[in-house]
Amino acid sequence: MSAPAIPAACAHRPTHGGLVVPYVSFEHNGLPVFGGLDPGKRARAFENGLCQICARPLERLFYVLVRPQDVSVGYAPEPGLHPPCLMYSEKACPMLSGASATYRQGSVIARHPAGRPCDNPDCPCPATAPTVESQVRAGRKADDWDAWMLSTPQYELRRDADGKAVGIQLPSDPKRIRRVRVSAERKRALDMIAALLELGA
Ligand SMILES: [Zn+2]
Ligand SMILES: [Zn+2]
Repeated sequence: MSAPAIPAACAHRPTHGGLVVPYVSFEHNGLPVFGGLDPGKRARAFENGLCQICARPLERLFYVLVRPQDVSVGYAPEPGLHPPCLMYSEKACPMLSGASATYRQGSVIARHPAGRPCDNPDCPCPATAPTVESQVRAGRKADDWDAWMLSTPQYELRRDADGKAVGIQLPSDPKRIRRVRVSAERKRALDMIAALLELGA
């Protein structure tokens, strides 16, 4: 698989193996670890409303990546993304594109989705300090991803007891929800709901 085209928004970012190095990526020995989130950069992105990929300020409409377990806690644990930066990540990130099984074994970079904690127990990547979210995430299959589009007035940070930003609040009225990756399991559930709605119509 060839590397996807880099959007203009990310043209200024360094690349590694043909992929844009997301702003929030943890760097180890001068190399980006695509699965690791740098806690300092993550905090800076949250506090300043920056895009996790290109590091520029988010605009009027932006996306947050959301998994089912994030909905249950009410916040997205990663900084937001510009729409073009999300579209790029969907193609570049094996976990979002659903292509992870087809990537070559042995390449740390290829197995790491843009900017999120590594959940491969055999991976040689340096462990970043495990956060509560990454522990919650590690216990689940990385299959279902939605992107919620929010507008600037909805940008509200969730903070822990020490006042540290841990995520972006999920409002009850996102502008839209984009299904980024749907597992076979969830597809069956969605199909069933659609069939039931049709019966009731
Ligand atoms: Zn961006
Ligand atoms: Zn890893």
